Amino acid sequence: MAVFNKIALIGVGLIGSSIARVARERAIANTIAISSRSQQTLDEARTLDLGDEYNTDAAQIVKDADLVILCTPVGVVGNITSIIADHLKPGSIISDVGSVKVSVIQQMLPHIPDGVNFVPAHPVAGTEKSGPKHGFATLFDNRWCILTPTPKAEESAIEALGDFWQACGSSIEIMDAEHHDKVLAITSHLPQLIAYNIVGTADDLEAVTNSEVIKYSAGGFRDSTRLAASDPTMWRDVCLHNKEAILEMLARFSEDLSAMQRAVRWADGDTLFDMFTRTRKIRRDIIDAGQEIDAPNFGRDD
Ligand code: NAP
Repeated sequence: MAVFNKIALIGVGLIGSSIARVARERAIANTIAISSRSQQTLDEARTLDLGDEYNTDAAQIVKDADLVILCTPVGVVGNITSIIADHLKPGSIISDVGSVKVSVIQQMLPHIPDGVNFVPAHPVAGTEKSGPKHGFATLFDNRWCILTPTPKAEESAIEALGDFWQACGSSIEIMDAEHHDKVLAITSHLPQLIAYNIVGTADDLEAVTNSEVIKYSAGGFRDSTRLAASDPTMWRDVCLHNKEAILEMLARFSEDLSAMQRAVRWADGDTLFDMFTRTRKIRRDIIDAGQEIDAPNFGRDD
């Protein structure tokens, strides 16, 4: 049975289109309404047959929706909420999929009308690709979806959104928004910045030509380029909107990197060996937790 009668997706890139696909394939919603900023992306979604209603005007698709999900970069969620607020159905739920949560709540909460439930969410699932054609229905399977409920949400609305994400394949975790932003700063945002830096440094190296970087790219560098190929708008917004937590993690990381630099300089093999042994266990734990598979190139086919 459908969890919601009508859902409205504002933004139909990788995440929005994956929600549309899974909602249709598993009959989680009876009607799927889609909005995107550009006519071009909306036409692409229509060609892919992702929904039942299409409109570039987000206010038009939310009117009778039971669940509205903002699937845009996090820097624009406040503005979009201010535009759709007066059109939201009383008793409905508004949510998002943003990779940061404190800023999203600060931006959206002031615009949420009384009687509408605001339950922010973050599906911890994704790829480096963007746009509607790259979404897929199984994206959220066996992944976590973190809910960071606000005071403007009935318990039943939090449960209903949890049911929705479970039907999409995810496991649910409820977390404080500040805590979410710290956890994601270390597990996602910092690795992304490090990848940008590795690829940027290689690109800047004068002693090594660009064609050599590409020709001899070993696994580690290739994995970094995959991350560094992610959507620049999304990641610019994540950095701007999770500034404090990212700076805190970067400071810790810089200290640890200096310690490693010292160990290399002084040929302190014991320190290096101990460190590499400790980190190896973490990968084993991630595989055991079902969040990665133990296959070459992580089982990815590109
Ligand atoms: P995406 O593929 O680039 O799609 C972005 C969508 O947002 C498009 O429909 C785009 O519309 C719309 N959009 C972009 N800028 C806009 C603006 N200024 N105003 C209104 N609409 C705008 O992005 P995505 O990867 O799905 O990411 C969407 C959200 O999911 C982000 O908040 C991100 O933090 C979160 N998230 C991403 C991942 C991931 O791995 N990608 C994972 C978890 C969560 P047009 O194309 O019509 O311009």
